[in-house]
Amino acid sequence: MAAVRVYSKDRTADEALRDLIRGNERFARGRPSSPRRRPEDFSALAEGQYPEAVILSCADSRVAPEILFDVGVGDIFVVRVAGNVIGGAGVTVKGSIEYAIAELHVPLVVVLGHSGCGAIKSAIKHIDARDPLPGAIDGLVKLVKPAVLKSRGMSGDPLENAIRKNVELGVERLRGLEPILAPRVKAGTLKITGGIYDLKTGIVRLILR
Ligand SMILES: [Zn+2]
Repeated sequence: MAAVRVYSKDRTADEALRDLIRGNERFARGRPSSPRRRPEDFSALAEGQYPEAVILSCADSRVAPEILFDVGVGDIFVVRVAGNVIGGAGVTVKGSIEYAIAELHVPLVVVLGHSGCGAIKSAIKHIDARDPLPGAIDGLVKLVKPAVLKSRGMSGDPLENAIRKNVELGVERLRGLEPILAPRVKAGTLKITGGIYDLKTGIVRLILR
């Protein structure tokens, strides 16, 4: 029987990041170990959780963090919202991340964008549109617009550029987020980075250090 892993609170961000990268390599090669998904694993966590990282990813059905990082129950604290938006996303997104940092002492946050993101495609398509998208979709897509505008004029593919810029802006926002995240980043006890998941290859590429 494999040993149940319960993370200690002194696990470092670099150790957590290494674990995620190795898991993604297993997944992308088609050789996942699918760890910690049995009763002895999850029942051991009933009294408390010690996730090694917060993953903020898109709600897209193809971007399932536990699967693509090949981790188990209790390993990552996942916040998912279309377009993996942070700026303007309000208290639910920011508060969820802050909870994981302040209460669960998670040392690492990864903002995870992905190729072919529909929210960003919509923002590019409707950036100059005068006809609003239905319901709350319009407001959501507006939150991605700063990334589209800031990546305009860059060489290369406009969608890829906007996806990358959206991750960069998210990381920047979180690194400066007072009063919980920013002081920890400055003190070196919290690492916030960004990556992009490629839908075709299954590989997560880190774009920030
Ligand atoms: Zn998406």
